[in-house]
This record gives sequence, structure tokens and C-alpha cells, in this order.
Amino acid sequence: MQTTPPGWGVVELLSEIEDIGRDHARGGYSRHLFDSAERALRDWFTSRTRDLGLDVEHDANGNIWAYWGPRGNGTVATGSHLDSVPGGGAFDGPLGVASALSAVAGMRSDGVTPRRPLAVVAFAEEEGSRFGVACLGSKLMTGAIDPGRVNDLTDAAGVTFREAAADFGLDPDATGRDEARLASLAAFVELHVEQGRGLADLGAPLALASGILAHGRWRLTFTGEGNHAGTTVMADRRDPVAAAAAAVLAAREIAADRDLPGDGAPARATVGRLVPVPGGTNVIASRVDAWLDVRAGTDAATRALLGEIAAAVRARAAGLRCDAEITEESYASAVAFDPALRASLSRALGAPPVLATGAGHDAGVLASILPTAMLFVRNPTGVSHSPHESATDADCGAGAQALRIVLENMLEGPPARQ
Ligand SMILES: [Zn+2]
Repeated sequence: MQTTPPGWGVVELLSEIEDIGRDHARGGYSRHLFDSAERALRDWFTSRTRDLGLDVEHDANGNIWAYWGPRGNGTVATGSHLDSVPGGGAFDGPLGVASALSAVAGMRSDGVTPRRPLAVVAFAEEEGSRFGVACLGSKLMTGAIDPGRVNDLTDAAGVTFREAAADFGLDPDATGRDEARLASLAAFVELHVEQGRGLADLGAPLALASGILAHGRWRLTFTGEGNHAGTTVMADRRDPVAAAAAAVLAAREIAADRDLPGDGAPARATVGRLVPVPGGTNVIASRVDAWLDVRAGTDAATRALLGEIAAAVRARAAGLRCDAEITEESYASAVAFDPALRASLSRALGAPPVLATGAGHDAGVLASILPTAMLFVRNPTGVSHSPHESATDADCGAGAQALRIVLENMLEGPPARQ
């Protein structure tokens, strides 16, 4: 019989932080790296893990680790993140952290004795909302990003990561690959609210992740000729806003042709940000900067999709007598989660559905180093990165229960990696 002690249910835990970092302008939550809300969440995490008798450690990269049992090799890690996008939902990140706390509380009160260490982790700056690089804490820890480059990143107010880290009490010259901790980890499991409506369509509360789509960001620069909106006849114009608009539609049409429901070969292309220069109502712009996000199931499919969009973007810009330049800003290869770990989770949970996700996660960063898996909890609306993100109390409870089953198995079974 698995019990959850009073006060340690996942919904109760989430209710403890429901007033921290509310964004009254956008709705939802804005909890950004080292701001007052994010610091309050760190304090909450630290105090709750200490209540559980865990040993809390702040690593050199801004992540917090809480250990159950003596440190050592073969550590099973679980957790997620506490930061949010601007105006984000209540579940993206905190659900995985609160589920981990609830699972550990349940195991402790039921007298489970872990045969190896367990760590609950809260990763820093997963959303990249302050410094623009997603999964910053896990990327620093795994050496996936150069610490020197990170120190020079600036936030919207012009504060560098170096300054923000020092102000928080980190040594900006000590960040980077955490060799000893990585060597001690045997596996990582992250529970997360689903960020699409796969589970809602399937009518199931929980899924195992198969992998994460390849994804990248490209900067599109359209140049034309700035001029007067009233005196320039239509035939004479070289309007980069028109070229950018044509590019947005081209990306949408090309991806939509391939992204057919149920055929297992997702293809997604989005332009979510456009900046016309100089940006006046009565001015034909001289330039437009835009950002294109492209995702697909494999690296080859992503490159092929990008190639087709890039050709269409250039052709449509040329048709409007503008130039289009395309440069890659970031790229993350497709991730396939560990087949053996996935199989053992699937057995433990009675073969739940399997879904791929188009969203990036710390689990995707860690997957390049150690056996990693993810569990998704149904999101009835399929909406995320929005105040309308949701999950029912019953599904949150089912998710925490599943995480506990999985962790208990891993703590008692043979090591996944020594
Ligand atoms: Zn998340």
C-alpha cells in the first residue's frame, strides 16, 4: 500500500507556491532566474527538501540538488525546473519538482529504504527567459555550452550573466561541466506537464516520452528600401515587411503540408518575432529582422524542412525586390530517450502511451550523457507557455504516483549505470 503523508500530496505542494511570482499584467506567472519570485521558489524548495531530511546542495551552476541517502555512484536523479516563461502556467516545471517531493515523502513514510542515493533537482533557467538560452543550468553542468559565452549573455536590462551570478552568490569563474556529479549519476527521470494535446486526444492521464524533436532557430534578415508611405507608389516599393509576411506564410504552408495528424512525422515552423526597422506607421521599413523556429522528428527531416523554407523565403523576397539572409542561431539534435530505461518504466507503469514532444527539456540535455526518461501528465487544453495551461488534480496525483513507482523500482533494482 502506497500512502502520501498529509501535506505532501502534489496538489498541496503546488498550492504552497501558487502566490509566488504571479504576473498581474500578463496573467499566469513570471518567475525568472535570480529574480525575487525565483529566489522565493528556491527557498521553498530548500525548506521542503530539508523537511524531508534531504541533504541540500547548491551546485556551481545555479542548480539545487537534494540528496536522500549517502552521496555516491549510482545516484538516481529526478526533478525539473522552477522558472517560467513570461506569463507562464502553474505546472510547467513545478509539477515535476512537486511530484518528486511527494514521491520521496511517500516512500519515506512507507519505510522504503533506498539501496542507492536519490537526488531531487531543480534546474536553473530552463526556459531561458532571462538570458535567452534554454536549459542553461543543465547545459552548463554537462558542458554543452561554453561558460565564457554564458558569462557574456545579457538580460533585457543589460545585466550580464556574470554580474547576475555574482550577485546571487555564485562564482562566475567556477561554472561549467560538473564532472564529479555527472559521474555519480546513474539515470535521470523528469516528469512534466504535456505541452500539447496528445494525451487529451488519447483519453489517457499519463505518457512515456519517446524523444524530443530536433529544433533550431534561424535569424531572417530582410532588406529593402526605406521610404515615405504616402509618396512612394506601390509599383516602386521594395518593402521588407511584405517580404517578411510572405516568408511567414511560406514557412506555415510548407510545414503544414508535412505535419499531418497521426502520421508520426511532425514538422513545425513558426515565426514568433518580427522587428521592422525603423518601425513607423507612415514609413516603409528598410529592414526587418525575424526569427524562424523549425522542428521535426529527425535531424535530416529538420534540415530538409529548413532547406525548403529557406528557398521559398528567398524566392518570395526576390519577387518583392528584397534580399533575404538566413543565419543559424542555435540548433539541438533530435533526442531519443534511453530504450532500456523506457522499457523498464513502461513495464512498471503498465505500458502507458508513448509520445514524442516538440518542446525542449533538461532531460533532453542530460540524455546525451546518461540514461534519461520522461513522463508526461495530461494537459486537457494542450496549451502551455500560457496562463491557460492546465492539469486536473486527479491527473497530477496519478503522475506523482507513477513517478513514485518508477523511482522505487530504480532505487531497489540493479543500477542502470555505475
Ligand atoms: Zn518545462
